Amino acid sequence: MDKFSILKEVFGHSGFRKGQEELIDNILAGRDVLGIMPTGAGKSLCYQVPALLMNGLTIVISPLISLMKDQVSALNTAGISAVCLNSSLSAEEYRMAFDVLYSGSCRILYIAPERLDSPDFSAFAANTPISMITVDEAHCVSQWGQDFRSSYLRISGFIKSLPVRPVVSAFTATATREVQEDIIALLELNSPFTMTTGYDRSNLFFSVMRPDNKYKELSRLLRGYTGKSGIVYCLSRKNVEDVCSKLRDEGFSATRYHAGLSDTERRENQDDFIYDRCQIMVATNAFGMGIDKSNVSFVIHYNMPKDPESYYQEAGRAGRDGEPAECTVLYSPSDVRTNRFMIENSREENAELDDEQRSLMLDRDMERLKQMTFYCTTADCLRGFLLRYFGEPNVHYCGKCSNCTEGFETVDITLDSKKILSCIYRIKQASGYDYGKSMVTDVLRGSKNEKLRNMGFESLSTYGIMKETTAKRIRAEIDYLTENGYISVSDGDFPQLRLAPKAAEILKGGKTLTMKMPREKKPAKKKDDNLTADDFLFVELKSLRSEIARRENVPAYIVFSDAALKDMCRIKPVDIPHFLTVSGVGSVKAEKYGKDFCSCISDYLSKKTVEAT
Ligand code: ADP
Ligand code: MG
Ligand code: ZN
Repeated sequence: MDKFSILKEVFGHSGFRKGQEELIDNILAGRDVLGIMPTGAGKSLCYQVPALLMNGLTIVISPLISLMKDQVSALNTAGISAVCLNSSLSAEEYRMAFDVLYSGSCRILYIAPERLDSPDFSAFAANTPISMITVDEAHCVSQWGQDFRSSYLRISGFIKSLPVRPVVSAFTATATREVQEDIIALLELNSPFTMTTGYDRSNLFFSVMRPDNKYKELSRLLRGYTGKSGIVYCLSRKNVEDVCSKLRDEGFSATRYHAGLSDTERRENQDDFIYDRCQIMVATNAFGMGIDKSNVSFVIHYNMPKDPESYYQEAGRAGRDGEPAECTVLYSPSDVRTNRFMIENSREENAELDDEQRSLMLDRDMERLKQMTFYCTTADCLRGFLLRYFGEPNVHYCGKCSNCTEGFETVDITLDSKKILSCIYRIKQASGYDYGKSMVTDVLRGSKNEKLRNMGFESLSTYGIMKETTAKRIRAEIDYLTENGYISVSDGDFPQLRLAPKAAEILKGGKTLTMKMPREKKPAKKKDDNLTADDFLFVELKSLRSEIARRENVPAYIVFSDAALKDMCRIKPVDIPHFLTVSGVGSVKAEKYGKDFCSCISDYLSKKTVEAT
């Protein structure tokens, strides 16, 4: 067997994706590797293929139990002996796992880092030929990363305790320079071959919306996703609860996940989502790490997340199967305030940091938040923005994001900005107080409201100078000026506006400003109600897949991914040789499921001929 036949026979894929082959070759040549590839790029294959070609056991260290379970059942369905060791196993299951390990048949062992130095396991490891240690989600070793796990620090000690040092391969999707250096240093990788495949996920469509009513927009979007799975991320537990219960009231199939729920409920809800019993997962960012569900078609952020790193990771959970998927942020300027509040208050948790480190972290987090805000308000290509942020060559037009496709108009707002800034200045000058967005807007539009008249603002020189402009647009311009540092806003329930020093650049310095203005009415999302004939086949294949999944008690995508089903719709195989040409079908799966799927397809084809005659 060579790597190509393993790829085809076991995993059913016809070719390697970018980066996979180089990583596999280097591992097989005995060199340590570090693979930095975006979520969904196919990192697992990079260690699973060599694992099957090497003589000894491969040990995969992985942080999350759900992820292990998934990977192990995926391997088992493909005919590979693999087991996992973690705290979720019963005593009986634990013993069975060790039976498999001692039998020598096992090729891949998944283990939680905490288990590495358990006595049972140490005894086993000391007397077993181990050809590779793989560290998945390797960024967990770094305190700079987002998911630091102290147990990851014990990995290098474990490797040193082995009689022979195996090849070490490490994989992650997040890799800023600091994290990358930490991984190499803390795992003690030996001049590793490092592969960065680039961050782009070409099947993801990125969009940012700024709806007046978020919930309404969310529900409109979800109606366009009938029959598809997706995640709605919210910033707070309370938002999760509210959104989830409203969605249920409207009849959506939704469930929820956040750190405030009991372990049992969390596990049940997660399984409901993974096993497609529930379509929509409403969750805080506590949900998702280690979820390898491949058929997630959309990820909607109900609130802007705190930084581009989190955003790209969370959005990246969509479309792992390579099918088109959509990633949307429902942005509102108040999300910026909420995030700032959360960042400032999360400092308390880092009690072990000294003041200087703490203030460094705070600056860093604030800078990231600013970048995230830029993402939500930029007129540039959204994909280009993210790729630039992660240090990749410039993309200026991708054609697959809301900015590229919807044609925002770029409007010169220099004059409007002067009017707004002067108005804020005049109000303060006349009254001695700062006021909020609505008072400033009212003055500019020449409103007759009573409070305004009582204050004598009717006599200001800026009163009514923007009569022709809608309040919505003025508010958007104020937000834009705030986000770009020309206006500062006080905290509290009634945020007040004040000129920031930078305002002088516009008022006196002759600086011009442009802003992207979304065209007012978006065309309603087109929804093709007329399913094509093959969509019906897809539905039938899906229901066959669910039946099998239920029978075998595994998530549906473990049986076949949506991408594989779609390929079946294209190829329409009715015998095993043709079935084997479907992407995602290897020999074991063909043997196990081929007959069922082929007969489903041939039934479908004969029905169609009957209808046609
Ligand atoms: P990640 O890099 O996030 O760990 P996974 O290893 O979970 O990604 O793979 C994501 C998806 O890509 C899986 O559904 C897997 O079957 C698919 N995949 C991986 N490699 C290939 C390939 N060479 N051809 C087709 N699909 C692939
Ligand atoms: Mg992975
Ligand atoms: Zn674009």
